[in-house]
Parts: sequence; C-alpha cells; structure tokens
Amino acid sequence: MDISLKQKILHLFFPTRCPVCGEFISYDELFCAECSGKLARFTGDFTVKGADGFTAAFVYDENISPAVIQLKRGVCGNADRALGLPLAAKLRENGAAVGIIVPVPMHRSARRERGFNQAELIAAVIGKELSIPVAADCAVKLRKTAAQKELDRVHRMNNLRNAFRIVRPELVRGKSVLIVDDVCTTGSTLAELAAVMRKSGAISVYCAASCKTPLTKPNKAD
Ligand SMILES: [Zn+2]
Repeated sequence: MDISLKQKILHLFFPTRCPVCGEFISYDELFCAECSGKLARFTGDFTVKGADGFTAAFVYDENISPAVIQLKRGVCGNADRALGLPLAAKLRENGAAVGIIVPVPMHRSARRERGFNQAELIAAVIGKELSIPVAADCAVKLRKTAAQKELDRVHRMNNLRNAFRIVRPELVRGKSVLIVDDVCTTGSTLAELAAVMRKSGAISVYCAASCKTPLTKPNKAD
C-alpha cells in the first residue's frame, strides 16, 4: 500500500500527534509548527573515529528529547518518522551512496526488556524512504555495557571494546555501510561498530544519528 495512503487511513483511527507536545497534527506533518520552530537542526562538523562521514538531523536538546523518549517508550505514534525522515532527507542531500543500513544493535536482554530496538525503527524509516536494504540481524551486541553517559572518555572506550560482533559478514563485505542510531554522544559506539564493519570487509562506513548532543556541552545521552 502507498505509504501516504496508509498514513491517511491510520490518521482516521489514530490521529497523528506531535511527538514533542502531543498536539494533533496533520497526517503528513512530523511535528506541530510551534515545536518544529524550536528544533535545532544539526549543522556542525563531527567526526567519528574510523568512519568516512557522520551526519545528524537534530541537536539533542530539551526541545527534541520528548520525541526520543516517546520513541524509546514505543508509544504508537510517529516518533520514528519524525526522527527518521529528516535524517533521510539529510542523507539524500549529502548524496552518500550506501549499499546497506545497519542499526546500532542492542544487547538481546535489553532488547527483550524494551521489546524493540529504537535504532532499528529509525533505520527502517530511512531504508524505506531511500530504498536501501536494512540489515538488522547483521551485527549483535555481545554484552551489556554500562551506560556511556556515566563513564569518562577512557572508560567509554574500554566499555565498548569487543562489545559488537558481525554475525553476517556477507551482508557488509564489499559494501558501503551506513550505521544508524537514535542519539549520538561521543561517537564511541559508532566508532567501535565502524571498526568491526571494516574488519568484516566493508569498503566504507558512514554513520548517522537522528540527534547529536551539543558539541561543546557535557554529554547527556548515548
Ligand atoms: Zn508540538
């Protein structure tokens, strides 16, 4: 079914709401006009170690964070589209030719607890929008790691060392890979994943997050 038709029908039964303030919005809007006006678009220059490029749609701040929280709670709504489509537009603008999208994996017990992986939801929206396949089962997180935001830089790197494994290397070998996450803080998670992608034969690795924490302020999330 045509995506916009599906949106229209869904809208009849579950009117679309702004994922930030909860106001009713039109089926083809992502945020209400007021919230949209407050959102800070990411325009900064950020480098993920070992990756060929990084981009984000929004700066992670108090204006966008309710949408991220809604996405993580899995409340039915359009937080996945609101966070995914602007990132897809940014990627299209940048014109990076990507063969496959890999969402940042969650440890299976964390995923079981939440019931889904929010990075996967965003990756699905981007994949559909840009017609790029998504390989959610390509990488796994081997162990539960401490929340990155609670650690200093050195501990962050050690915390993630050998945390990921590519279980289906054939999906990335010889390809240009795009790693997708919801929020990026220091980029340590993306850097660690980019390294294992390369070891598995990816020819280039780009990273993208719906939100990037401010470049100069202390980190709030990962
Ligand atoms: Zn709003």
